[in-house]
This record gives sequence, structure tokens and C-alpha cells, in this order.
Amino acid sequence: MVAPILPLILGLLVVVASGCTRNAPDTATAERRRRTVVSHAAIERAGTSGGPTVFAPAHRIVRELDPPLSGGEPEECAVADEFRPALGCLESLPLGPDTVASRPGNGRLSVEGSVPRKFWDQPMLIEPRVRGEPLAGFKRASAEIVNSGFFGFAFTSTLPPLDGEGDLELQLRAYAVPPAHRDFVSLPISFGTDDFLAVGLALHPVGLPFATGPVTFQVFALTDHGQRELFTERIDPADWSGDWLDRRIELSDLAGQTGRLRFQTKVDARADEVSRGFPLWGSPEIFQRTPRGPRRNLIVISLDTWRGDHFDTDVSGGPVTPRLAELATRGAVFEQAIATYPSTSASHMSLFTGLYPITHQVRFANDVLGSTIPTLAEMLAADGYQTGAVTENAMLLAETGFAFGFDSYFENKGLGIWNTDGQIDSTLARGRAWLRQHDGERFFLFLHTYQVHTPYEPPAEYVFGPSDDELGAATEPKWVTTLRHRYAGEVRYSDVALAAFLRDLDEAGLLDESIVVLTSDHGEEFFEHDEVGHSKSVYDEVLRVPLLIWAPGLVHPGVRVSSMVSLVDVVPTVLDLLRIPPPKNLQGTSLRAALEGASLPAHEPRFAEGPDTSRPGERLVAVRTEAHKWIAPEGTSIPTEIYDLDADPNEQENLDDDTLREIGRRHLESYAGLAAGTPLKRDLDARTTEKLRALGYVE
Ligand SMILES: [Zn+2]
Repeated sequence: MVAPILPLILGLLVVVASGCTRNAPDTATAERRRRTVVSHAAIERAGTSGGPTVFAPAHRIVRELDPPLSGGEPEECAVADEFRPALGCLESLPLGPDTVASRPGNGRLSVEGSVPRKFWDQPMLIEPRVRGEPLAGFKRASAEIVNSGFFGFAFTSTLPPLDGEGDLELQLRAYAVPPAHRDFVSLPISFGTDDFLAVGLALHPVGLPFATGPVTFQVFALTDHGQRELFTERIDPADWSGDWLDRRIELSDLAGQTGRLRFQTKVDARADEVSRGFPLWGSPEIFQRTPRGPRRNLIVISLDTWRGDHFDTDVSGGPVTPRLAELATRGAVFEQAIATYPSTSASHMSLFTGLYPITHQVRFANDVLGSTIPTLAEMLAADGYQTGAVTENAMLLAETGFAFGFDSYFENKGLGIWNTDGQIDSTLARGRAWLRQHDGERFFLFLHTYQVHTPYEPPAEYVFGPSDDELGAATEPKWVTTLRHRYAGEVRYSDVALAAFLRDLDEAGLLDESIVVLTSDHGEEFFEHDEVGHSKSVYDEVLRVPLLIWAPGLVHPGVRVSSMVSLVDVVPTVLDLLRIPPPKNLQGTSLRAALEGASLPAHEPRFAEGPDTSRPGERLVAVRTEAHKWIAPEGTSIPTEIYDLDADPNEQENLDDDTLREIGRRHLESYAGLAAGTPLKRDLDARTTEKLRALGYVE
């Protein structure tokens, strides 16, 4: 059965997606998303309803240019691993298909080719990417700027260290080199009291080796009174920090006027040089003071790989999350929350969209979210929220849809590719810094950490056991018992870090102004069904996850909800709590009644998918009600496994029951009816491929 249409169906779809297309980002024209992100109706002026006020992004300049960005120019690019919508991101084109080249003995490769007509009239930066074996990701070789596109180009590129021994695979990409003098002009803006412009200044990393001199960034106001300079700053590539430089420009002097903003960059150069600067304006936004109203802040935290039964219980000789359990007495705990996939990308996309994997179609790191599906960040951005994310890379790739709607999307890549230690401390520290910068605004912050993912290497003081007695009594292999304890140690350590983060929110007064969701994307199995890890089955040890929600004043403190719920219910629930009309066709339902202490209505089944390890490349579908689970190979509606979860919560006895089989068949058919098209794919770069290999997702 499909989840019932929400009662709030009369709400309008906030994110307007008419006529938009979202292509694979690695194609030339793909990186634009033509959406109306700011709904001006959502931004009310201060003073219209009294009460506390916040700053809200009322104008996102990247989407409000006159003229708009040209078709091929991306709206978003990364500096120091932080993606932002930006002015100045470089248009790029792949130059033909991948080719094979002989591996040079001296590490220097002759590169030649021709350039598409579109780029003939301007200088181009040609970047070769190479790999030495099929399973490796592509790495950047040294680039070159060429001016004679009409006649083709040829240069010698220095190769990075490469795997393998034989021939190389070669990709070529051309970037348009921006002119030395550039202007972007906004659409007309009505300025109010207290308005300010927030913007980050940077230089595009691809072009940085070719930057010739300091870039002068200037902002001008164009009003009936003429042109007025508001801001000037110079960045010298020789001493730039390499990170976004955030600036706040007060606009109070313009209150009551209507005008445009002009963003101008000029590159200095010595007389004998061409001027090149590659300047970027990151997330230029105008903030206006607005009544807070019912729109609280939202903070969603994902502790990747956190088992549902590793919350508020004793594991390996003691309480595993005592601090979070204590804090949970102020919020709500869902005791039976189900993920939609035992792997990171698919399940997080359900958390972001309120849709099952069969509809959002993002099951692996290189699947790209379809153009017509709004994400939670996009919905909230459209409703006047500042949006930020700190993730730990790899499976939540910015370019595949996870960054859509975020004003800042930071990939915390850590010290080394092969180091898969979770980084909860640095991720939460980055989250705290983001909050300090934005706590006067209406915001949505998403945080994601692999801290409890393999390898299980918590600080020594968080490792307890196993004792010799436990090892002697274990019915499973001893190494599995040891793994269980080390995993529990990671959860204990995360309990300390997350509880400290939540207490800091409380002390800063942010908990009372926010809704906080703490959950996970999947669990972890320890030989319950002869496997360890995840992404290998759809049993409850990998599908059940903790789900905690704090929203003081909106949530009945200490409520425990025993009804089965799913990650697809999170989007409708938070939109309901924030009084934001949901998009049509969400597949979850709001859990607000349960948060208020009432019982949930009769339950629809919830669905999950997962890889079928007995048929490589194929998948299983799981249907779960509170009492039963059915498992079937994808593409069939005949369950091959049926479990009575009341009598057999560990899913050990496969039932042979015609009545249950028929019920399962109907559920499976309803899930198959939600199918969307084939997902778009994008290539993974070398660093991402290696990180995924380190995490165990690719061979
Ligand atoms: Zn995960």
C-alpha cells in the first residue's frame, strides 16, 4: 500500500520545478538547476506580526541575476571542500570520450585535441585526468591554458602518481577562462531596515595556478540616486588562505529604496601579462529581518551505521548511550524506526526527500537525484531558511543531489583517503562554527558522521571487553564478539560527543528555537545472519535505527513511540512541525500526533530495499509491518521469506503461510508501483573512489 496522501494536500508545492531539467553534472550543460529557490511570499517584513525576529535569506543573488547566468555556467562550485552556489563558477565541457594513451616513462604526457566551437572565441583551461587501472578513479594531471582552439591544442602535462602498469585512460576537460573584468547585476531589490548582504570571496581552485595578480572585488548599489560603492576588497592569490572569505555588508543606508546590486571583479596584471583571476562570489544573499513565527530552526544529525538496539540499553557491560538517553527525556524516542536501505546514499536520500529508493532512485554514490524531486534543503531554502551541511564525504557526494538547496555543503574529507576513522569531533566542531555564524538567522543544519562505521577504533577509554568469560560463552566466532564490543565503544564515544553538542545548543538557547532530529541511515550486522557490516541483507539488525526528536513546546517530553515508523516519515513530520506545506506525493506521513503524545493511526506497511548478495547486482525488497516482514527478490511479488516479528524478532524462522504470502504479495506489488525511471550516473573522482574503497563499498 502507498502511504496515504497527507491531509495537508491543500498546501502548495513550494519548490517550483516546472520545465526544469537536472542532467548528470559531468556533462557540459548539466550543473544548472533552474529552480525558484526563494519564495518571496514566505519572507514577511519585520513588524507585521510582532514577536521575536530573525534574519532570513530573502534574495539568493545567484538565482536573481539580470541577465541570468548563461546556460552552461554552473551555479555551484567548491572551494576548500565547501560547495556553494556562486557567481563565477567555470563553464566546462568534456572533450570527447575517454581515450587510451601509452604510459610515458618520464611522467610527462603529450596531450592534444580540438576544442568545441562554443569555446573558440575565448581562452580555455585544458585539464587532463588520467587513471592507471580500470578500478582506480581519475586523477588530475597538470593543466594548461590554450588560446588557439580553432587549430586545436597540444601541450605536455605532468602526471600524478598512478596505479597499475599498462596503458592509461585519459579524459580531457575544457574550462572557459573568465575575462579579467566581470560584472554580475541583480534583479531589482526593495531594501528594508537592517538588511545586509552576506557573501564569501574566493578564487576558483582549478584556475588558481594561472592567476596572474590580485583581484579587486567590489559591490555597488544602483538606485535612483546613481551608483554607490558599498564594498571593496582585494585578494592576492599569493597570500590568499585558500578558503572562502565571508563578508557581511550592511545595507541599512538603502532602506526604503529599490535598486540593483552590481558585483564587479577586476584582475590586476603587469603590462606584459594576460589578466586572469578566476574570482568567485560564494552564496551572495540578502538577509532581511522577519518575524520568527512558527518557523523554528531545524538541525538533523545522522550518526551513520547506528544500530536501533544501541540506544538507551546496556551493551558490552554497561549503558551504551547514557547521556543521550538522559537528554531524550526532554524529547521523543521512536523505538521502532526503519531505514529504507542498508547503505548510506539510498537511505539518506529517503531522509532528504520523504521518498523510497524505488522513487528517488539514488542507491549508490554515483546515482544522481532526478530533477523533479525536491529535497528538504530546497524546501526550506524556498521558505526563507539559511541552509548548511557538514558531511564526511564519499557516499553523500555534493554533485549527486545531496548539496541541492544548501547554501554551504562542506565535505569533511579528513587527513587521508585511507583513514576511514570517523571524525565526529571535527564534524561537530565545524557544525558549531557554522551555528555561531548563523545563529541569528532562521536555519537548517545537517550533520553527518561515520564515527561508528568501520573501522571500529574508538579512543582506548571507550573500549570495554570482551572478557574471557564472554568470549568463552559466545556461540559466534570470537572475532565477531570482539567486533561487537569495539562497535559499542564507538557508540559510547559518539554518545559523549553528541550529548555535548546538544547541551551546547541548549546553553546557547538554540534548542528552544529549533527542532532537532538525531537518527541514522542503517544499522550494522554482527553474524545474526552470518554476515558482518551492512549492505548485505535487509534484516532488522541493518534496518532498525534510533530516531530521536527534540522540539521543546511541540513534543511531549519523554514520549516513547512504539509504533513502527520509517525514515520517509521524517520530511513530512518536520514540515508539519514547521507549518510548511509539504510537496505532493510524499511517501511518508507526519508523526506529529505521536510527538504530542497521541497514538498514531493504523499503520501502513513500510518498505526497504537492499543488495541481494546471492545474486550480484540484484536487489531484495523488504516489506515491514509492526508484526511481520516479507522479503522478495526485486521484480517479483512472491515473498521468499516471511517472519513473525512478535514471536521471532531475530528473523530466524521463515514461515510457510499462504495467507501471509498473499498479504505480502499485495504489499510488494504496491511498492513496485512506486517505481521511477533509470537513475542518472556520474563518474567518481579518484579521491572519492578510494574513500569508498576504504569504507568497503567498492572492491
Ligand atoms: Zn551509512
